[in-house]
Amino acid sequence: ERARGLGTRYAVHEGSPEREATRHLQILTHLRTALDDDQLSLHYQPKIDLASGRVSGVEALMRWQHPEWGNVRPDEFIPLTEQTRLIQPLTEWTLQQALRDRRFMLQRGIDVPIAVNLSSGLLRSREIVRMVAQVLSEPPGNGWLQLELTETAMMEDPERSLQILRELVELGAPIHVDDFGAGYSSLGYLQRLPVDTIKIDRVLIQHVDRDARSAALTGAAAEFAHVLGLKVIAEGVETATLYRQLADLGCDAVQGYFIARPMPRTDFIDWFERQGGRFAPPADADTDTG
Ligand code: C2E
Ligand code: MG
Ligand code: MG
Ligand code: MG
Repeated sequence: ERARGLGTRYAVHEGSPEREATRHLQILTHLRTALDDDQLSLHYQPKIDLASGRVSGVEALMRWQHPEWGNVRPDEFIPLTEQTRLIQPLTEWTLQQALRDRRFMLQRGIDVPIAVNLSSGLLRSREIVRMVAQVLSEPPGNGWLQLELTETAMMEDPERSLQILRELVELGAPIHVDDFGAGYSSLGYLQRLPVDTIKIDRVLIQHVDRDARSAALTGAAAEFAHVLGLKVIAEGVETATLYRQLADLGCDAVQGYFIARPMPRTDFIDWFERQGGRFAPPADADTDTG
């Protein structure tokens, strides 16, 4: 039992709604312990500005190392918290940890903004404004935090969301639209949102090199975003071909395994220093690693 991973449990219980509910409850119970027990951490994945090759920022991605289950993926547990009150302390932890990591990176001379993902549902309450205000009021101050939110999250209750988004922006936390093109994607509504950047979803990006329609859509989305004065990041860039193509399609920045996987903060710092804060695709990177 001890050695069994969560994946095994999942496979065993698949198909039974009762088992599924039990498993969800179990994850939530263990997550409460994880919060107090140092089982959570943030990993960092760089974003590269295509014009300069410089690291333009990092995205903080949550990792849960459970003592028995091993790694539990954020996609498995974060959506579960969204229906519960646990989402508040989890978000508070993430913001505070990002602040600690911000200080740690600064001490080593690395000054890049950190993007934190926010769950859907957080825009229902002004609690998120309080949490963000809190971390930005502490040293080293403002100007380092970016917030990633999906369109779906922003469109749940548009009027209320809009008000809260405006307050977050006023605090000095730019909003990035995550997973753009994966869901609802109402271009008209995007115009009304106080957003700074769109991140085109991996699902669209990963077909750009094989499918002319995906390439055209990505190019059109980039053009549209630029008309609105927004920046464009492509997510999930796994190959040299894509890296080059996305520059041609007008993306401003890229993120993905081709550049680097998400890393613990010390590994990120090592990577950053080795690269001199830049990324240049290897000259012989024509052969895709896929
Ligand atoms: P996301 O914000 O869209 O993050 C991108 C996901 O794609 C991450 O998965 C990342 O590791 C993965 N990824 C990056 N580059 C590549 C690539 O080239 N190829 C492939 N196949 N995947 C790539 P991860 O870390 O498992 O996170 C999954 C999702 O969980 C995130 O999607 C985000 O929605 C959520 N999440 C992660 N950390 C947090 C957090 O601290 N708070 C909240 N609320 N949500 C989080
Ligand atoms: Mg994200
Ligand atoms: Mg995304
Ligand atoms: Mg996602």
